[in-house]
Amino acid sequence: AKLRVGLLFGGCSGEHEVSIRSAQAIARGLSDPANADRYELAPVYIQKDGRWLAGESAIHVLSAGVPLKLGSSDAPADPSGETSALQAPTVAAVERWQSTAQVSGVDVWFPVLHGPNGEDGTVQGMLTLMQAPFVGSGVLGSALGMDKIAMKMAFAQAGLPQVGYKVVRRSQVYSNPCIFPKLCDEIEAELGYPCFVKPANLGSSVGIAKARTRAQLEAALDSAASYDRRLIVEAAAPSPRELECAVLGNDHPQASVVGEITYSSDFYDYETKYTEGLADLHIPANLPEAIARQIQDMSIRAFEAVDAAGLARVDFFYCESTGEVFINEINTMPGFTATSMYPMLWAASGVPFPELVNRLVKLALEER
Ligand code: ADP
Ligand code: MG
Ligand code: MG
Repeated sequence: AKLRVGLLFGGCSGEHEVSIRSAQAIARGLSDPANADRYELAPVYIQKDGRWLAGESAIHVLSAGVPLKLGSSDAPADPSGETSALQAPTVAAVERWQSTAQVSGVDVWFPVLHGPNGEDGTVQGMLTLMQAPFVGSGVLGSALGMDKIAMKMAFAQAGLPQVGYKVVRRSQVYSNPCIFPKLCDEIEAELGYPCFVKPANLGSSVGIAKARTRAQLEAALDSAASYDRRLIVEAAAPSPRELECAVLGNDHPQASVVGEITYSSDFYDYETKYTEGLADLHIPANLPEAIARQIQDMSIRAFEAVDAAGLARVDFFYCESTGEVFINEINTMPGFTATSMYPMLWAASGVPFPELVNRLVKLALEER
C-alpha cells in the first residue's frame, strides 16, 4: 500500500509564499516516477491567518502556486467535505485538526513551513502530541534553530566559532531616555561598526539591518524591536564569502558539498534573496579542500549541537583575508524549491531531488 504523506504548507509567517513554492517542488518529487508507487499526497494548506484547509482547497493552492485570499468566500467549495478551517491554539481546533488528519489518513507529515509558526517547533509540538511521524527536526531542534540567541548559545557550547554578539531586549530599546544611549555606547564599545542588528526569531533577513553609524544603530534597534522582544547585535564578519552546507540524516548525519552565494548588494537581504537574478549560487564553491572539509565538519557539529533531525542547511561566513570561518546559522527547514540551495547541494552530492524527498520521508519514519 502507498504511504500517505501529509504535505503541510503555507503558514503564518513572512515566508508563506516561499513555502508554497517549496511544497510544489516536494509534491513533484514525491510524484516522480521513482516515488509514485511509494507515496500518495494529502496536501494541507495553512492560511496566513492560521486556518487549516485540506482537500480540494489545498490542492487548488498547490497547483495555482499562490496564496488563497483570506476570507472564506474565496475558498472553493469542497465536495469531499475534507476542508476544515482551524485556529491553532484551542483544544477544539486540535480535535478538529486531528479529525482532518484522520479523514485524510496521513501516515507521515512533511511540514514544509519556513520561519515562525512552523520551523520553530510549534507545528512539531502539535505533531508530536498527535504521535504522528514527521519530516525534520523535533521541538527542540526546531526551536533552537529559529531563535538566534539560543542557537548561538548551543553553538558556543559545541565550540563552534562565531562573530562577537550582544543580546538586547526590547525593553532596553523602548526604555526611558536614560538606558538607550548607554546601550548604544556598550554596543559601540563591545562590537564596533559595522554591526548587524537582528530580531532573534525571524528569517529571510526580515528586520535585519547593517549599521555603520550611531544614527543607523539607533534606527536599526528601533526597527528590529518592532519585530521581536529579543534582539541580537553582531559584529560584522569582514568581507565574508557566504558558504552553505546541507546536512541529511538523523543519528548519523551526512554533509553535502559546500555551496556559495554571491550578490552585488551590501548584504544578503530580503530583496536579494527573493528577486530573481540578484543572487547566484555556486555549487560546489571554489574553495581550498581544507576549508570545505572544515565547513562540512562544523555543519555536522552544528546539526548535533541543536539536536536537529532529518535535514538542515548550515550557513557560514568565510573571511578569506584572515582565513577564519564563522558559523552564522542553521535553518532546520531550508528553502526547498527546485532552485533552492538545499536540494541543489544534494543533487551535486549524488542525491537527486526525488531520492532526497524519499530519504527524508524514510528518516521521518525511523525510530528516534
Ligand atoms: P536570516 O536568518 O534572516 O537569514 P542571517 O543571520 O542569516 O538572517 O542574516 C542575513 C544576512 O545578513 C546574511 O546572509 C549576511 O549576508 C548578512 N549578515 C548577517 N550577520 C552578519 C555578520 N555578523 N557579518 C556579516 N554579514 C552578516
Ligand atoms: Mg535563518
Ligand atoms: Mg540566513
